Amino acid sequence: MAPSSAARLWTTLVLHGCCLLGAAAAAAQNSREVILLDSKAQQTELEWISSPSTGWEEISGLDENYTPIRTYQVCQVMESNQNNWLRTNWIEKGDAQRIFVELKFTLRDCNSLPGVVGTCKETFNLYYQETDAEVGRNIRESQYVKIDTIAADESFTQGDLGERKMKLNTELRIIGPLSRRGFYLAFQDVGACIALVSVKVYYKKCWSIIENLATFPDTVTGSEFSSLVEVEGTCVSDAEEEADNSPKMHCSAEGEWLVPIGKCICKAGFHQKGDASPSQVSELIKEKVQQRSVQLSWQEPEQPNGVITEYEIKYYEKDQKDRIYSTVKSKSTSATVNNLKPSTAYVFQIRAFTAAGYGTFGPRLEVTTKEEPSGTASTEQNPVIIIAVVAVAGTIILVFMVFGFIIGRRYALAVKFPGTKTYIDPETYEDPNRAVHQFAKELDASCIKIERVIGAGEFGEVCSGRLKLPGKRDVPVAIKTLKVGYTEKQRRDFLCEASIMGQFDHPNVVHLEGVVTRGKPVMIVIEYMENGSLDAFLRKHDGQFTVIQLVGMLRGIAAGMRYLSDMGYVHRDLAARNILVNSNLVCKVSDFGLSRVIDDDPEAVYTTTGGKIPVRWTATEAIQYRKFTSSSDVWSYGIVMWEVMSYGERPYWDMSNQDVIKAIEEGYRLPAPMDCPPGLHQLMLDCWQKDRADRPKFDQIVGILDKMIRNPNTLKTPLGTCTRPISPLLDQNTPDFATFRSVGDWLEAIKMERYNDNFTATGYSSLESVARMTIEDVMSLGITLVGHQKKIMSSIQTMRAQMLHLHGTGVQV
Ligand code: AMP
Repeated sequence: MAPSSAARLWTTLVLHGCCLLGAAAAAAQNSREVILLDSKAQQTELEWISSPSTGWEEISGLDENYTPIRTYQVCQVMESNQNNWLRTNWIEKGDAQRIFVELKFTLRDCNSLPGVVGTCKETFNLYYQETDAEVGRNIRESQYVKIDTIAADESFTQGDLGERKMKLNTELRIIGPLSRRGFYLAFQDVGACIALVSVKVYYKKCWSIIENLATFPDTVTGSEFSSLVEVEGTCVSDAEEEADNSPKMHCSAEGEWLVPIGKCICKAGFHQKGDASPSQVSELIKEKVQQRSVQLSWQEPEQPNGVITEYEIKYYEKDQKDRIYSTVKSKSTSATVNNLKPSTAYVFQIRAFTAAGYGTFGPRLEVTTKEEPSGTASTEQNPVIIIAVVAVAGTIILVFMVFGFIIGRRYALAVKFPGTKTYIDPETYEDPNRAVHQFAKELDASCIKIERVIGAGEFGEVCSGRLKLPGKRDVPVAIKTLKVGYTEKQRRDFLCEASIMGQFDHPNVVHLEGVVTRGKPVMIVIEYMENGSLDAFLRKHDGQFTVIQLVGMLRGIAAGMRYLSDMGYVHRDLAARNILVNSNLVCKVSDFGLSRVIDDDPEAVYTTTGGKIPVRWTATEAIQYRKFTSSSDVWSYGIVMWEVMSYGERPYWDMSNQDVIKAIEEGYRLPAPMDCPPGLHQLMLDCWQKDRADRPKFDQIVGILDKMIRNPNTLKTPLGTCTRPISPLLDQNTPDFATFRSVGDWLEAIKMERYNDNFTATGYSSLESVARMTIEDVMSLGITLVGHQKKIMSSIQTMRAQMLHLHGTGVQV
């Protein structure tokens, strides 16, 4: 299927001049699929090849929407030894590398077919054969490569009362990389009763977009699900590349543009038109300062780049240790910020908002509120006034207390700052059900289709499935279930996570779709994160990402944490295992619970201060006296950074928790993981400052990471400068390679043992011979992954340096 012509037209139109519209990118990105085959779209006979001809049969039918379709069916369940093949026509792959095959089928439950026990099957096999051109009509089984055995899903919607329903199953399989011009798909039936309702074959593209004044062409996604294709942009007319900062974007396997780097800028004499980010408000002016309020005014920014619909002022107490931002919004060019403390220094910043989004915050303005009035002297001398004031104040306080108590118990309103959305602890609700329904949507169980179990949660199984809300497209979801036989407390604790998650709305915080509390099982339905938890995901893809990709993941986590800390939510259990990753490598913070929920983290252990704590991830003050704040979350974030840069290595390796606590107290910190840019390790060390006031805030962390992504040169690491340490902590010596008895030992220590045979087969049997290897030698062993080449080379360089230094061996560098 060709890209939508509307999208193409958009792209062409906005190319003129140094002018952009944000919507262009979105419109052009809408459809990412290029369809190579869609059996449903064909009304005439498909004429695929069936062998033997008594097997699969082409039949006209109706799909689930009663649209006429062509289907293939086979149902030879009465006879044993079935081997029925069905082959599609030849599919030319074009420029695709990674092909998606979506099958829709119904499969008859063997138990519903009396008298067929033993012969009937409930699966079929999917194959493909790559060729450069069409081949004959004979199916040569040996030439086909098996993709998978396809089974029907377990259905929870299957009728009770013994009634069995035919259910449409959808399965997706991915094949690639493909090297020939085209391929055939084949379906092998070995004795099932199947109707193949539709077959759709497609690949994904990132459609041409314009970003940062550069155009990026249509780009076919890479062959691996984790591959990002780097694409150079071309400046639009009247724009030119910024010096040493040429525009690049990355096309993800899902057909989405990610990680923009560099940009074009308008040539001298031109300026950017259209809905770009509004420019800064150049100055904030204090109009009136009172004890508890400050009136501010400002001018519209010089380049509004659209209609400014709103301004946002953020402010915080200058001397506050844990910086809590509050915000106030205004539609005009002035605002009064109320509810301030007297005699307190505040810092204010403002930014403008247009349809294209927020601009950047302007310069800071520091204002100290006035002292409390000294009028108390006169009241001191007038007992009647004092009594009146105390009586009135007392009555007001009493009314507030009573009213506040009632409201607090019923609705748990926790208004912290004007204009700021604040997290509300569900524990403050007398009735936890009320909390759940205040923050989470009650879903009808019939909208949820559970497909398969994907993990074990602390309260029951975690499943994947689909959610189909009326009038909306169905979406993939994760479903947490509460196991049967739960206690009331377990039910409350289980739903507590939904009461917390339901308060958040941020692209880097996992999104709650809703809950099912009025049926069984009790369920929490969450957006589906295809790649599961971050720690396992990184371990599975050890060495396979670029530094920019890793930093992109870290940036996402920091942005999610900035949002949570701005809301006043302290996570307490931030760790890679509690971050989920979706198919676009977007990382989202998850695992919300009250403090006691940490008790269920397998990493949490009892400490002398009481309660269970995941020691390796926790700041010293939180371990010592349970002082959990956003700053202790920043410490944990530093550990997550280390986990990410070391591809899921266990922080502090196999040291005991007690040794970790002792070492940290003595001032030791984790060293840089291998190939970690020094700037990133410095940021980790900043997060692990002993005094929590010295740690960066999440807002600053996001800013630092953004800068690194924009200037990738800062992320370059000279090979061998930053190596995987074998003695664990920062101030200890570099690894002693003399302790390795063999090349195998060494490869195991750097987790590259999979290449043992490559080394021995080519004669690298001693560490001395390995220490002489160059990058070309490493490549010649057949080690193709760049991450692995770097990892091995980096360790060899350290080994070489150490041999020279410690043993004076004659290794030539
Ligand atoms: P949890 O109880 O949140 O620790 O979840 C247990 C496991 O289920 C996690 O480690 C994930 O592998 C998986 N899981 C949880 N939530 C999701 C989700 N939203 N998407 C995909 N997998 C999930």
